[in-house]
Amino acid sequence: EAPPIDADFYSVEAKLSPEDRALQLRVREFLETEIKPIVNKYWLHDEFPFEIIPKLAALNVCGYVYDGYGCAGGSSLMDGIIAAEFGRIDPSIATFLGVQSGLAMGSIYLCGSEEQKQEWLPKMQKLEKIGAFGLTEPEVGSATAGGLTTTCRKTEKGWVLNGQKKWIGNSTFSDITIIWARDLDDNQVKGFIVRKENPGFMVDKIKGKMALRIVQNGLITLTDCVVPESDRLPLANSFKDTAKVLQMTRAGVAWMAVGCARGAYENALEYTLQRKQFGKPIASFQLIQNHLVEMLSNLTAMQTLVFRLSELQDEGKLKDEHASLAKVFCTLRTRDIVSRAREVMGGNGILLEYNVARFLADAEAIYSYEGTKEINSLIVGRSITGFSAFV
Ligand code: FAD
Repeated sequence: EAPPIDADFYSVEAKLSPEDRALQLRVREFLETEIKPIVNKYWLHDEFPFEIIPKLAALNVCGYVYDGYGCAGGSSLMDGIIAAEFGRIDPSIATFLGVQSGLAMGSIYLCGSEEQKQEWLPKMQKLEKIGAFGLTEPEVGSATAGGLTTTCRKTEKGWVLNGQKKWIGNSTFSDITIIWARDLDDNQVKGFIVRKENPGFMVDKIKGKMALRIVQNGLITLTDCVVPESDRLPLANSFKDTAKVLQMTRAGVAWMAVGCARGAYENALEYTLQRKQFGKPIASFQLIQNHLVEMLSNLTAMQTLVFRLSELQDEGKLKDEHASLAKVFCTLRTRDIVSRAREVMGGNGILLEYNVARFLADAEAIYSYEGTKEINSLIVGRSITGFSAFV
């Protein structure tokens, strides 16, 4: 008889307190019963399941790490564990929550005024208001640090924003989008809370994605979009402030990748135990076991790495290069794991209903967003050599 599937091979989760473990299992149960049964359908149709928003709100994990404003004030470690649980069931829903809880709420939490935090964070924590984060542009992806072409200028009627933002998750239905723009006067990057009803703000849905199809990404056009000074993030005064948000969310993406890899591994292992060829379960073949062990080795390395990453975060010692290294390593290894998971499932590996094809496709987007492998590698390279090799 096959032993039970245990994807926590080094028992890293045994380090969690009983309360944290209970929260993890509560999140897992929710995702398995409420999310797993519906995601393939929505993924196939490239649609977002709006009916899950109140249920997600009731789960009460949005904005988990922030203090006050209705947020739990929990640890980065548990925030990561939660991100991995979401990734294990569906990377799209994990991304929806990552944009809301990390990128959008994080920008307000780290760079906003007290009034802005009071106005938005409690409602965003309850998912009554949805947020998006607009940094990338059609012609500026990796080079956002110095190259933003979306501009802002202070005038008598307020700040005037012009430009385009591409790939912006949740933006097709978000109430607010954090827009990052270069100030024409001092050339510094500033951040703004732009409301959907603003007449200068327009969003077109990006269609035809082959990954993260449940996430609704938008192409935003800002045309003389006037934003009052009260909606400018006062603590966002250069790209260094944007980078503070990205440091936190890149750590979250690393955790999400761990979940994606875990979901694929668990499904693949289960399949190889059930599937028989030549009169035997395919799990009994040496070449299949080699794939499974390669997957588990990488998964275990990722799990131990993100645990330490979050400990550093909770100790206040996390640096950009730590987050970047974890993002690169975990998303790269995940790509290998999902591809092997697909491989050991033969033809069924490409069918959505076998619950690995979605991970295979989604891993491609996770690999590229929040800084590609090259860009995050250059961040680590700069820190270990002292040479900046971006240009
Ligand atoms: P490019 O910058 O055009 O890069 C193309 C290739 O060139 C890459 O391989 C890159 O690594 C490489 N390259 C670039 N510069 C260098 C260099 N100096 N040295 C070596 N190689 C280099 N953005 C947001 O602002 N908000 C969002 O919500 C958001 N959601 C996203 C969701 C999805 C599904 C996707 C796919 C993207 C999302 N993005 C979002 C954008 C994402 O962050 C960018 O796609 C990413 O930063 C890469 O930019 P790019 O796609 O323009 O690629």
